[in-house]
Amino acid sequence: MINASLPELRRALDARQISAVELAGLFLDRIDALNPALNAFITVDREGALAAARVADARIAAGSAGPLTGIPLAHKDVFCTEGVLTTCGSKMLANFVSPYDAHVVSLLKVAGVVSLGKANMDEFAMGSSNESSYFGAVKNPWNPERIPGGSSGGSAAAVAARLAPIATGTDTGGSVRQPASYCGITGIKPTYGLVSRYGMIAYASSLDQGGAFGASAEDCALLLSAMTGFDERDSTSLERPTEDYAAALAASSATTPAARPLEGLRIGLPREFFAEGMADDVRATIDAAIAQYRALGATTIEVSLPNARLAIPAYYVIAPAECSSNLSRFDGVRYGHRAADYGDLADLYAKSRAEGFGAEVKRRILVGTYVLSHGYYDAYYLQAQRLRRLIAQDFQAALQHCDLIAGPTTPTTAWALGEKADDPVQMYLSDIYTIAVNLAGLPGLSHPAGFGADGLPVGLQLIGDYFAESRLLSAAHRFQQATDWHARRPAGAA
Ligand code: GLN
Repeated sequence: MINASLPELRRALDARQISAVELAGLFLDRIDALNPALNAFITVDREGALAAARVADARIAAGSAGPLTGIPLAHKDVFCTEGVLTTCGSKMLANFVSPYDAHVVSLLKVAGVVSLGKANMDEFAMGSSNESSYFGAVKNPWNPERIPGGSSGGSAAAVAARLAPIATGTDTGGSVRQPASYCGITGIKPTYGLVSRYGMIAYASSLDQGGAFGASAEDCALLLSAMTGFDERDSTSLERPTEDYAAALAASSATTPAARPLEGLRIGLPREFFAEGMADDVRATIDAAIAQYRALGATTIEVSLPNARLAIPAYYVIAPAECSSNLSRFDGVRYGHRAADYGDLADLYAKSRAEGFGAEVKRRILVGTYVLSHGYYDAYYLQAQRLRRLIAQDFQAALQHCDLIAGPTTPTTAWALGEKADDPVQMYLSDIYTIAVNLAGLPGLSHPAGFGADGLPVGLQLIGDYFAESRLLSAAHRFQQATDWHARRPAGAA
């Protein structure tokens, strides 16, 4: 059951081979056994999970179960959960019990999902390795000396080690796709605006987007279908009919020829992604996966994203600018950490923030405040917004010639814990292939494509036009029907 896909779990629950309470117990026991070493969870909610599982069992008995009723899940600790500790990986919120649910959390509750607890993450989702968490680093289940990626590293490690079959995450510059790649699982970041940001603690609001982790594209499709939908409480939520991505996978299966199911699909390979920068073993793995896509009937053409190289500099102006504004709410007054000793009100703010935020968060607040300040705004912030527009235009031009764009998710496999901890710029560069997608607001998916020379997973990234989630998931699903990279499990987690 631990390794079962969501459709297999659904069948087992519906056939009463296992109850939702038993299934939750199985995963909770596994968390008890493996989480002390992995540190993928900040909070394990055994009682809440078992209570939700009892409700799910009643629904199954009454014949009113949906696709996710009784399925266990981990929520990234960026999502507010009513009555449950919600830390965002920070000392600032180490005592914060949310009084309300994020929109995503309430949608999944309605679907009958059983939340096992809250997954570890980089502090305020700022990071690429999960080492900036106040609650300690997460270990990569494939090799405990390596990072799992970030910022949703706890979610990705939990799914890879089968502490949960699926998990939520958020992706501001790559935080779903990059840890999915490093942990050997599938992760999708949808089009900006598809998943409500209400109750998702803000980092950089124009880039933040909720996403889904699962072993396979099919599991991600089932989870994502339940996470999307218009929400009037988020001013950037898109008002459009919700899609059933899992049904779309099944429908495209029925209409495509079995031997060459991707016949007619045009995949663009950005010249700039395949230039220098990618490690040799990653390149060999990605080349082999693209050859597999061709064998399934897809054609490939070269496309160009000439401004993609400017994505990291543009992002590291825009994201800090937005975070400096968003994080001003953490002042020690209304909730969160408050310094024990302070003089006047200004001193209370300063000391609470100095004590509550870690080094990476402070670095970003300082940069953001600087680029927004009088005299620098035009030179940095406005310029970065112009680059953002150019990057988005590059994608639109490339997508005139192809249906999807493919390339590596990351330039290397997961690095050693501590290796880049003192060099933030090296850390930032690990997101070189993912960040442009957020700047453009496009959907992106990472799926397992093989292993590097060190035996660690390599992810292939698919990028589509706005609302191309079904196309991304279908292509990945076809690939996964023909290969078994997504079914490999780390030793010890089998
Ligand atoms: N690693 C990037 C950052 O540190 C992206 C993080 C994210 O997507 N939340 O900002």
